[in-house]
Amino acid sequence: MIQDIKCIIGLEIHAQMNTKSKIFCSCPNSIKEAKPNTNVCEICLGYPGTKPALNKTVFENGIKIAKALKCQVPDNIFFSRKSYFYPDMTKNFQITQYEIPVGLNGYMKIEYKGVMKKIKIRRAHIEEDPGKLIHKGGDITNSEYTLVDYNRAGTPLIEIVTDPDFNSPHEVLIFLTKLRAILEHLNIYDTEMIMKADANISVKGGARVEVKNITGFHNIIKALEYEYSRQKIMAKQGIFIKQQETRAYNEKSKTTKTLRIKESEADYGYIFEPDLSWQVMNEKRLKNIFSTMNELPDDRVKRFVKEYTLTDELSNVLIYTDKALADFFEKCAKEIKDYNLIGNWMATHLMKCLNYNNVSITKSKINPEIFSDFLKMIKSGDLSERLAKELIKDLVSTGKSIKQLIKEKKVKIYKDNELEEIIIKLIKKNPQVITDYKSGNNKSINFLIGEVLKETKYAADVVKVRKIILKIIQ
Ligand code: ZN
Ligand code: MN
Repeated sequence: MIQDIKCIIGLEIHAQMNTKSKIFCSCPNSIKEAKPNTNVCEICLGYPGTKPALNKTVFENGIKIAKALKCQVPDNIFFSRKSYFYPDMTKNFQITQYEIPVGLNGYMKIEYKGVMKKIKIRRAHIEEDPGKLIHKGGDITNSEYTLVDYNRAGTPLIEIVTDPDFNSPHEVLIFLTKLRAILEHLNIYDTEMIMKADANISVKGGARVEVKNITGFHNIIKALEYEYSRQKIMAKQGIFIKQQETRAYNEKSKTTKTLRIKESEADYGYIFEPDLSWQVMNEKRLKNIFSTMNELPDDRVKRFVKEYTLTDELSNVLIYTDKALADFFEKCAKEIKDYNLIGNWMATHLMKCLNYNNVSITKSKINPEIFSDFLKMIKSGDLSERLAKELIKDLVSTGKSIKQLIKEKKVKIYKDNELEEIIIKLIKKNPQVITDYKSGNNKSINFLIGEVLKETKYAADVVKVRKIILKIIQ
């Protein structure tokens, strides 16, 4: 048997920040599609004589991310120009941070198969995004011609560089999930924003391959899975990559192909950016920034376990799947005090419906009020589990209240006295059940419950029916 070949992965992640304006000018930092080259000004177009003005929120966001990723924040932070000649960057340099960024030498803990692992964060820095190249009639390697749209130029980015500490694409998935949750909780990033990655990946004995510019959370994982299996299959045949190369990921074919043999960082010729001042980080300034930081997801998990007595697992699901789910949970928790009922229904049936409709909680029509009213009916026993499972589908897709749905769909809800009548009738029909029960056969009631459910077409709640039966036969 051929031994499984481990891979080594390191990441450079770019996440777009959700600030109102761009990083060095007052143009809106918009995610909406605008006409090409309309969301621009002299600064983000790099006109000669213009000077950048640093967006304070972008900078402070960078410090918060550094803190959340357990990085050291240097005392004196500055910006640098990364020189390169390419049509997506009019100035022929990108303003970024190189020598002294907002964060250095941090880490994130991830857990996989019960094993805790530290992923080292080499650095975190902020920078401007270049414009967008649109390759007509093909991709970057074979298009007829290329257009450029500078609307994106100057969009604030946070770049996070890890050490090559990952040993599988799955570990990367866990890391990115946590990272996304951290950025969401800091209110720096939301799911509408773009996350991109350059990933270095190699297997033992081979040179590393850099897969450039993979856009989107799921594509990052897919690209790594493809590249890992490609290198693994080659390695099993004794073929190893000899020279470091850069490849591009194709979203349609889900494969990678060679772009170029990579230049090194030094080739970019970084120089100090003289138009932006040094950022002096004294204790007071840091304290001020840290004091405005929101609760981080790991702390939130701990709080959910303590405050709401949810399991660790359930708390993780709610908090790391989508921050909005955890927010939704907390709103419901104000309405109905049965926290496990809320959590369990969310993590199972509600999430199933959302996934089925391919919609996020934020975009779906259901809200905490509707969901809480629905849960209250389950808790009181007015709504049987079977009915509830049916009706939740409509709650998610229509945004109507549970009362309205019951009325519209003419769902029969049995009142207590109606159930009593049915039960008394069934007891008369099956007197043996009571005799059996009274002679110590507790299970005999289950038969009666079954009959009631059949009679009510499963609209009656089991717990409630049992209670009423016991009341009657006592
Ligand atoms: Zn601008
Ligand atoms: Mn970058």
